Amino acid sequence: MPYTYDDQNIFAKILRGEIPCNKLAETEHCLAFHDIAPQAPQHVLVIPKGAYVNYDHFASTASDAEIVDFTRAVASVCAQLGVCPSEGAAGYRLISNAGPDGMQEVPHLHVHILAGTRIGPLTV
Ligand code: 5GP
Repeated sequence: MPYTYDDQNIFAKILRGEIPCNKLAETEHCLAFHDIAPQAPQHVLVIPKGAYVNYDHFASTASDAEIVDFTRAVASVCAQLGVCPSEGAAGYRLISNAGPDGMQEVPHLHVHILAGTRIGPLTV
C-alpha cells in the first residue's frame, strides 16, 4: 500500500507555523519541540520537516542528508536535555509509534524522547 500523507495533521500545521509549539531545537531538516501532554518529566518530540508518515516511510524514501540530520538531531536533543548516559546522566527512552497497532495518533513521523524518571518496562 502506498504511503498517503495527510497535510492537515497537527505536526504539518506546526511546521507551517499555523499553530504554535514550544520549540527546543531546529536543524535544516528537523524540528524538536516539547510534547503538549508530557508523559515524563522530559518529553520532547523530534520530527522531520519532510512529509513522512512514519519511520518506514522515512527510511525508505528520505534522502541520506535528511536521515543523517534526523538521527543526529535526536541525539543532539538528548544531549541538550542532559540525559545521555555517556555524560553520566540516567538515560532516556526513544519511541516512534506507527499505525493502529503502534497507537500512532499523529500521522507525521516523530520520535518521542522520554526522560527524567525511571521509565517502566516495555509492555504490550
Ligand atoms: P503518537 O501517539 O502519535 O506517537 O504521539 C503523538 C504525540 O503528539 C502525543 O504525545 C501528543 O501529546 C502530542 N501532541 C498532539 N497534539 C499536539 C500539539 O498540538 N502540540 C504538541 N506539542 N504535541 C502534540
